[in-house]
Amino acid sequence: MKAFVICGPTAVGKGTIIRELVAKEPAIWLSTSATTRSPREGEVNAQHYFFVSPGEFDEMVEQGNMLEWATVHGVHRYGTPRGPVEKALADGGIVLLEVDLAGARQIRESLPEALQIFIAPPAFDDLAVRLEMRGTEGPQERARRLDTARVEMAAAEEFDRVVINDDVARATDEILSIMASVK
Ligand code: 5GP
Repeated sequence: MKAFVICGPTAVGKGTIIRELVAKEPAIWLSTSATTRSPREGEVNAQHYFFVSPGEFDEMVEQGNMLEWATVHGVHRYGTPRGPVEKALADGGIVLLEVDLAGARQIRESLPEALQIFIAPPAFDDLAVRLEMRGTEGPQERARRLDTARVEMAAAEEFDRVVINDDVARATDEILSIMASVK
């Protein structure tokens, strides 16, 4: 079984790296999370996320249909639907999950075989710069995300591997070689 968790602080470039991974390795099956947050411009339901109401989210949790879930950045809930992950594993794909720190900790219990990869910036201050340049959050939300990022960075050593995103192509290749090394 090949399952991988990717975790990392806000604005570290996880999204870009994951897109590159999927483009370079067609066997990767990327889990689509459910979330209670609203879609951003250009986001498509069932493609970027399953955008669900808080009530629908509660129901998925109550029915045991989440492999993990967490309230991220203190506001919205995000979770990994269990059924599609189990199906992808049974089909023999390379399963990739992107979750926050709380989710990664739960997956150590619910899917302990998954190899956990933490993506870190070369320096903490890079995150503030990248977050501001991205321009998708206001100053208050950016400050909140940076607070979370400090906690996440302190937990990096819990992970099986830490990959520094000093260069997207290099970091992507490092993750691909980690994936290839897992039997
Ligand atoms: P965004 O709102 O920017 O799309 O995502 C915010 C954060 O939610 C991401 O950085 C990611 O770590 C976390 N996240 C996305 N999907 C999941 C999920 O299924 N489970 C958990 N625990 N966190 C998630």
